[in-house]
Amino acid sequence: MSITNIMIPDISKIRKDFPILGQKVNGKPLIYFDNAATSQRPIQVIDRVNEFSLRINGNIHRATHFFANKTTEAYENARETLRSYLNAEETAEIIFTHGTTESINLVAHSFGDAFVTVGDEVIVTAMEHHANIVPWQMMCQRRGATLKVLPFGDDGLLQHELLDQLITEKTRLIAVTQVSNVLGTVNPIAEIITKAHSKNIPVLIDGAQGAPHFKIDVQALDCDFYAFSGHKMYGPTGIGVLYGKRKWLDRIPPFFGGGEMIDKVTFTQTTYNEIPYKFEAGTPHYVGAIGLATAIDYLNNLDNILISRYEHDLLMEATTRLKQIEGLRIYGEAPEKVGVISFNIKGIHPFDLGTLLDQMGIAVRSGRLCADPVMDHYGVENMVRASFAFYNTVEEIDAFYRALIRLKAMF
Ligand code: PLP
Repeated sequence: MSITNIMIPDISKIRKDFPILGQKVNGKPLIYFDNAATSQRPIQVIDRVNEFSLRINGNIHRATHFFANKTTEAYENARETLRSYLNAEETAEIIFTHGTTESINLVAHSFGDAFVTVGDEVIVTAMEHHANIVPWQMMCQRRGATLKVLPFGDDGLLQHELLDQLITEKTRLIAVTQVSNVLGTVNPIAEIITKAHSKNIPVLIDGAQGAPHFKIDVQALDCDFYAFSGHKMYGPTGIGVLYGKRKWLDRIPPFFGGGEMIDKVTFTQTTYNEIPYKFEAGTPHYVGAIGLATAIDYLNNLDNILISRYEHDLLMEATTRLKQIEGLRIYGEAPEKVGVISFNIKGIHPFDLGTLLDQMGIAVRSGRLCADPVMDHYGVENMVRASFAFYNTVEEIDAFYRALIRLKAMF
């Protein structure tokens, strides 16, 4: 793929919406390639969040004054925006959480308490983020259940044909990531859901890396739970979503106890509120939810197809360039991949690479990427990860490539 063939939406216009990108870091124009960790926020989101600090602020669902009414209305409108974006059947199926991690912990805890008992099994994959491993492990330990693991190959593809061998009559749930945060692999979640449902097993999708790249239709997908974070899809930090089918949410107990999640409290017995409130104890991050809905509005105004083609072209361009560098190994080359490239360069420690790139104004991630089992699979301690968003450009990829060539020459 040559640079000139790339389909270009109006990126310079889009970049103007992201003031942070125009800065210099360490004296160099910022190149932000750490989008899989957290993405930047458009001015529309920043303004909306500021509005709810500067002019309007009142706790939701609790009072009848002007501010309380305004925030409650904006919060519940945000829930409807999310419902519509995900095509959930009803707003009651949209729970605001602090992020993917809390969403998964909620299901692991509440679903585990209701449906998992001694000798049962839960299946995850070997390419999960720690957020989709540890909560299940903790739940299995608590309930006396077993965690089983679907492996992947060196190419970064799930060996999902092995799923049949892993599933037994004891399987209570399958939790799988839509997209690997290390390998970029887009997993065949529709197939996995169909297979699981043919055996009456519910499926939780970790959408932390999927939702920023794909328009999700939870009804078409037929997933039982879908979890994601606002800060990875151009929204604020500290806000996330758990979608769950009503048939499950009605039947599982609350995760946190406190205000708003109750119907009636006495010292002998407490009854719980309806969904989604049953799962939103305490004051939620309502400003975050409102900001996330603004990010969704922003995404809805972009040309979805053009943007995803552009992101794919950026990935292809970066892959082609990086492969020209001798001694550079890319981990995960699935045919269906999002804009995430994890790699190492022989003879350069990933932390040195990250630090030196930072001095050149280029932000990448280096470390274990919250995915120890993936590091173990490839027998490495750490990796460097560059991850792209629609506001990145081919010029930035070119600068990144040239920076790597310079650094390689230095070592
Ligand atoms: N799942 C995946 C695939 C991720 O990439 C991440 C974060 O990087 C998470 C879960 C956890 O997301 P958060 O830290 O926003 O809760």
